Amino acid sequence: MRTKFIFITGGVLSSLGKGLAAASIGALLEARGLRISMQKLDPYINVDPGTMNPFQHGEVFVTDDGAETDLDLGHYERYTQAKLGQRHNYTSGRIYYSVITKERRGDYLGGTVQVIPHITDEIKQAVLQLDNEADIVIVEIGGTVGDIEGLPFLEAIRQLRADLGKENTLYIHVTYVPYIQAAGELKTKPTQHSVRELRAIGIQPDILLCRTQIDLSPEIRSKIGLFCNVEVNRVIAAIDVKCIYEVPLRFHKEGLDERIVECLNMWTRAPVLTHWEDLISKVRDPQYRLRIAMVGKYVNLRESYKSLNEALFHGGVANNSEVEIDFINSEKTRGEDLLNRLAKADGILVPGGFGRRGIPGMLEAITYARENKVPFFGICLGMQLAVIEFARNVAGLPLADSTEFDSNTPDPVIYLMKEWYDYRSKKVEKRDSNTQKGGTMRLGAYPCQLVTDSKAYLAYGLEQISERHRHRYEFNNSYRKVLENAGARFTGLSPNGELVEIMEIPEHPWFLGCQFHPEFKSRPLNPHPLFVAFIHAALERKLKYEA
Ligand code: GLN
Repeated sequence: MRTKFIFITGGVLSSLGKGLAAASIGALLEARGLRISMQKLDPYINVDPGTMNPFQHGEVFVTDDGAETDLDLGHYERYTQAKLGQRHNYTSGRIYYSVITKERRGDYLGGTVQVIPHITDEIKQAVLQLDNEADIVIVEIGGTVGDIEGLPFLEAIRQLRADLGKENTLYIHVTYVPYIQAAGELKTKPTQHSVRELRAIGIQPDILLCRTQIDLSPEIRSKIGLFCNVEVNRVIAAIDVKCIYEVPLRFHKEGLDERIVECLNMWTRAPVLTHWEDLISKVRDPQYRLRIAMVGKYVNLRESYKSLNEALFHGGVANNSEVEIDFINSEKTRGEDLLNRLAKADGILVPGGFGRRGIPGMLEAITYARENKVPFFGICLGMQLAVIEFARNVAGLPLADSTEFDSNTPDPVIYLMKEWYDYRSKKVEKRDSNTQKGGTMRLGAYPCQLVTDSKAYLAYGLEQISERHRHRYEFNNSYRKVLENAGARFTGLSPNGELVEIMEIPEHPWFLGCQFHPEFKSRPLNPHPLFVAFIHAALERKLKYEA
């Protein structure tokens, strides 16, 4: 059987949850026993989202192979078994970059290089390299139909139907059916317009996924079907849900997976959805409620910590707990105000981040967690700050800092390591302050060896783990002894012992900082051990407190 491609486009407006819809379709098809892979094509010009501001763009999702990708790849990996990387996320910028490089090299033999066919061919190649990777490849086109920048992508997927055949391609259009309060009815016009736009480009959608607040009546469904030239049972309602992990189940109830395999002329078993159903019943009926304070810089925008929010949720479900996250902006909330907020939390987390802003507030939060024995989880920047806090306030190095914040600190406990052995490139890597932003980070999955009598080992139950990184600075080994003598422990190291990956304070109930980003590997059906352990510690504290 050859690989079939599902193309997902979006209409009317952005933020319709196209990524979640794509991921949920992936989950449903996997539940039918199919092997799936996923890809995101983003029309913006940045070559990758690595350099984009998290305030604007949301999280940068890092894959095992070190690609800095769109946050939708996070959804894809959370909902499916697909292993994603560099090949699964392309932007216009990356496509153009490659075409222009070829042009400079003379590959086009003096021909005029044009959007059609050169750019569109490049896009098609990016899609078709996934041929044979799975039974079905789901390709989501970012942006909204009607955007100028999206046109080459739409043209490319239009051509792919002609190239691959009708039974091997499927167009799903995600659209919006607003409920107009004053009229008391659902309006189909925006959907009609958006489909008309798509058809003008030459794409007739096979299935419509209609985002809506209330269910679509049979009349509305047939009206949409008629005006959009889509069979009425292929007009699928995507009703707002409380929990995003309900989406696959809702889609199944609407018959979406059945329609998809029918359109693609495939035979599969009925989907096995028990694990998703069990998850949702656990989510609906939590035994406990917990509050985690997340103290950081980008906390105003939830999208910036997408995977982190999800990982906390997964850890909560594993502990029968609903986790409420109190996002605290460490630039604005300081001193008394901060302490009052922290006093209401069962656990404190300092997430990743870059730059100097907001650092003092994060350090205050860490001091509070350490002194008051509140479970603490520091991730990447959070781990680096835990090291700084400990060095300053416990190990007697009051001026300890990271060279990221103070290049002249007398005690650079966190710094740019000049040379280290890189397990990914299998070469000695070099860093100095002149190395550029963007390309010089430690990115992707690295092995880490755990010390067996540690909280980390207790959580994982494994001696060697692999976790994803995205940072430039590292722990400075010349301070290992001083900090150990003061009571810190380095319980996770690179296999050659060179890089500190985890720091703990053994005498604290649960105080752990990790240089990597565990949140990228947490799944609803397979929650990350460190998040499970952190939430467990928070729950224990709460129960002890209440007793
Ligand atoms: N700014 C720090 C570094 O570059 C931490 C990065 C992060 O938290 N992802 O090392």
